[in-house]
Amino acid sequence: MGEPQMIGAYRLHEHGGPEVMQWEQVELGPPSDAQVLVRHTAVGLNYIDTYHRSGLYPLPLPSRLGVEAAGVVEAAGPDADVEVGERVAYAGALGAYGQANLVAADRLVRVPGGVGDELVAAGLLKGLTACYLLTRTFPVRAGHSILVHAAAGGVGLILCQWARYMGATVIGTAGSEAKAEQAKQAGAQHMILYREEDVATRVRELTDGAGVNVAYDSVGKDTFQATLDSLARLGMFVSYGNASGPAPAVPPQELARRGSLFFTRPSLFDYSASSEDLQAMAGELFRLMADGIVAIHVNQRYPLAELVQAHRDLEARATTGSTVIDPA
Ligand code: NDP
Repeated sequence: MGEPQMIGAYRLHEHGGPEVMQWEQVELGPPSDAQVLVRHTAVGLNYIDTYHRSGLYPLPLPSRLGVEAAGVVEAAGPDADVEVGERVAYAGALGAYGQANLVAADRLVRVPGGVGDELVAAGLLKGLTACYLLTRTFPVRAGHSILVHAAAGGVGLILCQWARYMGATVIGTAGSEAKAEQAKQAGAQHMILYREEDVATRVRELTDGAGVNVAYDSVGKDTFQATLDSLARLGMFVSYGNASGPAPAVPPQELARRGSLFFTRPSLFDYSASSEDLQAMAGELFRLMADGIVAIHVNQRYPLAELVQAHRDLEARATTGSTVIDPA
């Protein structure tokens, strides 16, 4: 089974700003029965990492950080159904900000040949999220109108491409003209500059007064009211993130008054809790990537040594698409 080894990794001893992430030598392994030691080749940056760091989603401290990486199996426990040397990736296991990590074998997906590690680290968690939001939380059909907030972000660009492929009319929001242009190129037919325009008014104009069938809101506090005001009768409010702070509560009577609306606060954790669901969604994502329907846009790259700056840029709305951290 091997001996423990020392690796470089970020650790958190207190919640706070980007500077609380500390680079340290930590002891790792060997893998227990159903665990796998993954040597990272590319690490994903996700907005949830900032919630873990700040304490919005508190972690028991001290803790490792980062939840997504691609890499190579270096060692595996006897019950782990993977071979040493296989290319694998994970989305959702803590400890990705480092050179290697121990991950439960049933949380790994095999990286298909022809797909680079960087693309998988950039797109697995965000692509799985787009998959469940569009196919499971609210099954989008051709002819639906959908609202995608932060449409030029990591999840946003994937939502635009996938929803357009499904035949939906995609209305996106973004913080700048340049971001709006990127989302349009990814498939959004209409873009709203939500720092300047009234979102609900524009959505009503674009949908002949009806509103959208589903709104995917990852911004939270700042967009909450506009999202609620943009929904069609029987529409669904999918509140799946808090980039501007947590969304407030919705009184049930308010949902009735606005047309028997649905409200949900979903998490990838639940939609991929079973290994079968995880593998099925990864298969759907990789197929669309292979067919050229979903492209993963890696628009920022940082070495692990510049992780603090990567967090600053993500929270300052200075990024578009996906960001990859190089663990070399
Ligand atoms: P993004 O690349 O989308 O980055 C966040 C974007 O949100 C920014 O670029 C910015 O775009 C927009 N934004 C609006 N207001 C603010 C604000 N006050 N501060 C910072 N950003 C703001 O990140 P990800 O693709 O990694 O994640 C997108 C969202 O999806 C996050 O909220 C994340 O938590 C959520 N998520 C939820 C999952 C779930 O299962 N529930 C799974 C995965 C992600 P702009 O400048 O255009 O406004």
